[in-house]
Amino acid sequence: MSIISDIRQSQQIDSISFRHILEAEDDELLAELRAAAQQVAIAEYGHEIYVRGLIEISNICKNNCYYCGIRRGNKNATRYRLSREQILDCCSMGHALGFRTFVLQGGEDAYYSDTVMCDIVSAIKAAHPDCAVTLSLGERSRASYAALREAGADRYLLRHETANAEHYAKLHPAEMNLANRKQCLFALRELGYQVGSGFMVGSPYQTVEHLYEDLLFLQQLQPAMIGIGPFLHHHDTPFANEADGSVERCLRMIAILRLLFPKALIPATTALGTAAARGRERGIQHGANVLMPNLSPVAVRRQYELYDNKICTGEEAAECRVCLARRIESIGYHIVVDRGDSKMVVYAQAT
Ligand code: SAH
Repeated sequence: MSIISDIRQSQQIDSISFRHILEAEDDELLAELRAAAQQVAIAEYGHEIYVRGLIEISNICKNNCYYCGIRRGNKNATRYRLSREQILDCCSMGHALGFRTFVLQGGEDAYYSDTVMCDIVSAIKAAHPDCAVTLSLGERSRASYAALREAGADRYLLRHETANAEHYAKLHPAEMNLANRKQCLFALRELGYQVGSGFMVGSPYQTVEHLYEDLLFLQQLQPAMIGIGPFLHHHDTPFANEADGSVERCLRMIAILRLLFPKALIPATTALGTAAARGRERGIQHGANVLMPNLSPVAVRRQYELYDNKICTGEEAAECRVCLARRIESIGYHIVVDRGDSKMVVYAQAT
């Protein structure tokens, strides 16, 4: 049996095969990897792509992650935050465009206290009862996650960034740590959220061993969604002069993830689309099945600048929606109007 069909069948990969695939220059092996991953995705999800409307609610952040353009230490960033009304307007526009999931993402901005955020979440759910609400607001207390879940939030995205504590410490200042990040993820899972995690490919100091540890951690967490994208430098960060992550390595990682997690929701991310002209299409051809187009007001889009040259910062949401549909139809897929819930067994709710 080939190493690819072995991984596909067992949904396991050992560290030697993993390194072999990441470093291979063997076109035949890589073609087999890609085809197998795409087949698995099609077997689970057909040619349907789920979409989530991404609303970037604030670029104000108390954290100082070395890779991120909206880190608090970036004095050149023009800061903004969206009001409850602006967020609700984005959702209404998104609903009209066929979105049935809204992802509210932002920096760790204290303005969005539990009271403020619960009110926003319940207002969205009241206005659009057929929609899922996903939050991506970083690390909060368990009590906060519980209150937001109670208010109606269905899902939470929190990338672990790297599962290796020493590597984590090279990407973040000392006030942040991997243990807390993991604790947040397990708390979210216990509270009954559909959880998304993930990491950047090619972040500074990342090794093949680190990526393997990321896979092992994901096998432990069993998240509903796994989001990965290449690291891309931002000119006003400590990593301004670091090399960008490799698109090829990111695509190989997407394919491996699909073989290990056949039912997972795997987005073809904006970072992937930024790093290569048809990056998101190629992501889908390597097993991704979700797209997260931007629904943020055009006036603030350029300000949510996590990395340089981010795509889709100038278009209206409606244009984005049409552009995306055209792009994925060109590769034989189509967008579905659906909440696109995870097919993974959601972890039993804590009693
Ligand atoms: N504050 C939230 C949202 C972070 S932004 C949180 O902590 O979860 C979402 C993701 O963008 C991050 O988790 C990170 O993996 C990714 N990201 C940040 N800076 C990036 C960069 N320079 N290149 C590529 N991805 C980046």
